[in-house]
Amino acid sequence: MQIQENYSLKVLNSFGIDVSARFFTKINAPEDVDALIQWRAEHTDTPCLLLGGGSNMLFRSGYDGLVVLINLKGRTQVSEDDDAYYVQAAGGENWHEFVRWTIDQGYAGLENLSLIPGTVGAAPMQNIGAYGVELADRMQSLQAVDLLTGEHREFSVEDCQFAYRDSFFKSQQPDRWLIIAVTFRLPKQAQWITAYAGVDSAIAGQEPSARLISDTVIALRQSKLPDPKVIGNAGSFFKNPIMPIEQWHELKARFESIPGYPVAGNNGLIKTSAGWLIDQCEWKAFRDGDAGVYEKHALVLVNHGDASGAEVWAVAERIQKSVEERFGVWLEAEPRVIGS
Ligand SMILES: Cc1cc2nc3c(=O)[nH]c(=O)nc-3n(C[C@H](O)[C@H](O)[C@H](O)COP(=O)(O)OP(=O)(O)OC[C@H]3O[C@@H](n4cnc5c(N)ncnc54)[C@H](O)[C@@H]3O)c2cc1C
Repeated sequence: MQIQENYSLKVLNSFGIDVSARFFTKINAPEDVDALIQWRAEHTDTPCLLLGGGSNMLFRSGYDGLVVLINLKGRTQVSEDDDAYYVQAAGGENWHEFVRWTIDQGYAGLENLSLIPGTVGAAPMQNIGAYGVELADRMQSLQAVDLLTGEHREFSVEDCQFAYRDSFFKSQQPDRWLIIAVTFRLPKQAQWITAYAGVDSAIAGQEPSARLISDTVIALRQSKLPDPKVIGNAGSFFKNPIMPIEQWHELKARFESIPGYPVAGNNGLIKTSAGWLIDQCEWKAFRDGDAGVYEKHALVLVNHGDASGAEVWAVAERIQKSVEERFGVWLEAEPRVIGS
């Protein structure tokens, strides 16, 4: 394991924020994981940040510690039974390339999650989701190592405590468990999920298939979201707020067109749209220097070029404040915000 100093993270975060890590290393092989555990035991005062594709992070400042890029590779079908194929991918595999690989192998199940940036190992962190499917719906188990003790452990879906854009790893112990690999259960009897955000109308009249749905999702996403290679961003910057149904009814009485979706498995809760709330406060296309809000999507904060993380965060705070003043709803940031 090679450690470099004062390493630029600019191309390693999708906001394109120009910051550096005091120390930097890459995990390419299982031996590097052992070396990392050893290094951490010898440098207990130095914080450590695990990094995948950097597409769900905002660096408000540089990182005064060790940034560890997870670059473990490999994907394989591990087994099958009457009902499903079980496929596994290493934590450093690119998520979208893995999804397309499963489709090329003839497996269905991950197509709705096409084109989400980042790595396989980061996907369970916030239980990635899109177009009606979440990672938790398809995951069988994951393999992780405790960087404090060296314990290797298999986590079931229940162990991960998945929730909306959340997990045990994200909310309780980021940077403690390194996710080495994730195993997916892909049903042999495909269940197409198409009644969602334009997918049904786009494929109307055609026989659904994993490839068709994947291609459709890709086209829809490309029409709505900025490509981080062109405009820095981390996708949706805020989670959709979840509130008691009584609070939502009060808002509905005042703001007739406010959207509301029942939270699956919980009749007393309603999820509303953070994008709608922000749009009502007229933030779309806002720009202050190089930090701003995407012109086509109020939920996406952007770096038009040379914005600092602090400048992007300042826009986020102004949005949070204005939405709270108007609707009494606090928006929670979805990406991990690093530094002060
Ligand atoms: C244009 C765009 C669109 C997006 N659309 C969606 C979407 O539709 N749905 C959605 O859910 N998300 C979306 N995202 C957010 C992002 O793509 C996902 O959260 C993705 O899973 C992040 O992966 P990453 O490898 O970039 O993680 P990073 O940003 O590198 O890290 C995210 C978190 O995971 C941790 N981590 C990374 N790798 C590991 C590992 N191997 N073991 C343990 N911890 C690890 C990090 O420490 C950090 O806490 C979008 C982002 C962008 C830029």
